[in-house]
Amino acid sequence: MTHPPPRRLIAEVISIGDEMTSGARLDTNAQWLSRRLGELGITVEFHSTVGDTLAHNIDVYRAAAARADVVVSTGGLGPTRDDLTREALAALVGCELEFRESAMKHIESLFARRKREMPQRNRVQAMFPSGSDEIFNPQGTAPGIDMSVGRAERPPSRIYALPGVPAEMKRMFDDTVAPRILAQSGGATRIRHLVMKFFGTGESDMEQRLGEMISRQRQPRVGITVSAATISLRITATGETDEACDAMIQRTRAEILELVPELYFGDGEDFEQYHAIDALLRERDESMVVVELGRAAPLGDWFASLGDSPAYRGGLSFSDVEDFQKMFAATAEDDAFAAALDRFDADWILMVDGYPALEKTATAPQGASEFRLVVAGREPRIYSTKVSMGGHPEILHPRIAKAGMAWLRKILAST
Ligand code: ATP
Ligand code: MG
Repeated sequence: MTHPPPRRLIAEVISIGDEMTSGARLDTNAQWLSRRLGELGITVEFHSTVGDTLAHNIDVYRAAAARADVVVSTGGLGPTRDDLTREALAALVGCELEFRESAMKHIESLFARRKREMPQRNRVQAMFPSGSDEIFNPQGTAPGIDMSVGRAERPPSRIYALPGVPAEMKRMFDDTVAPRILAQSGGATRIRHLVMKFFGTGESDMEQRLGEMISRQRQPRVGITVSAATISLRITATGETDEACDAMIQRTRAEILELVPELYFGDGEDFEQYHAIDALLRERDESMVVVELGRAAPLGDWFASLGDSPAYRGGLSFSDVEDFQKMFAATAEDDAFAAALDRFDADWILMVDGYPALEKTATAPQGASEFRLVVAGREPRIYSTKVSMGGHPEILHPRIAKAGMAWLRKILAST
């Protein structure tokens, strides 16, 4: 099957709310939506932010509908009097608001499920500009609005109004808005994603090694994001069927693995190195203990979040290595490792020595400090490496912990 060539659509993202214009809250919805629209091949040319004032809302929608083919707005769909998106859209095209029974039923069922009486004012969330479509909100009471605005000698501009709550708007965009935009662009109708995770280098080095892979022209699209030194590559494919999309994604995944094999640790938006280590140890029928020295213990938290995994025996935290030795009545570090492995009936210890103290008020990058990463196994086998690392105080401790996990993965891969 062939399509007509997709139309190049221009998009505008509108963020509505006094909390953004007053500076009380950072507009993260626009960033998220712009990335997603980019993945769909839609160029976002405009961002607008507007407070909760009806006349200004109408102005912003009017300008957007005139200059953009796709308009995605967030906010102003709540039940209170400062939520004006419904009215603004009706005023924009000069129509009435009408009551939709289907939307009302969903709102009532949400209140019933929460065992709460529905306040009368929530009825307003079932009001829609006549001629508009509903965008289903599985997680909240505010449905979205999908409305076309006619334009002289051009196809209409399509406005998708979503609630401001980030979790709700994300789900609604992925489930409903993205497929409708694809249909609007006259191209493929299915969209699929896969997230691959990497640790061990910076964003610019990663970009360089991936080369053409992350070109905006490429299909499937590969987007790069970094969170506390963990790199995510998000592959987005659009096509006729889910199967066709998945096949393209798998080919791209294999190409990426050829380019950066040693940095990769797993697939999935929420997949972290401790999940990879957990899976690896379970496979080997082995287990580990974490020893963290210094002024933090992030690994203990992360591994504890695995629940009652047979691969994780527990975490210990001391201010320095002498205290660790004392705990096991050992005068040498190696003896302490052997005693701890015995006591916990574990196969491996991952020790981070140690996390530097951070000034509470520090915002500037911390100077580099040196620390040791030690993996101790039975027999005994000790693998130690020295690393020097600085960086922004908010991510320095997690980065050190992640370097520790990367070290353990490397040892496990070679033994
Ligand atoms: P509802 O009131 O039904 O939750 P709404 O459409 O009225 O939906 P808002 O009241 O505007 O949404 O916002 C709800 C929450 O989402 C608030 O906590 C707000 O700060 C947050 N929020 C709104 N817009 C944005 C945005 N652009 N970026 C990040 N957070 C946002
Ligand atoms: Mg609001």
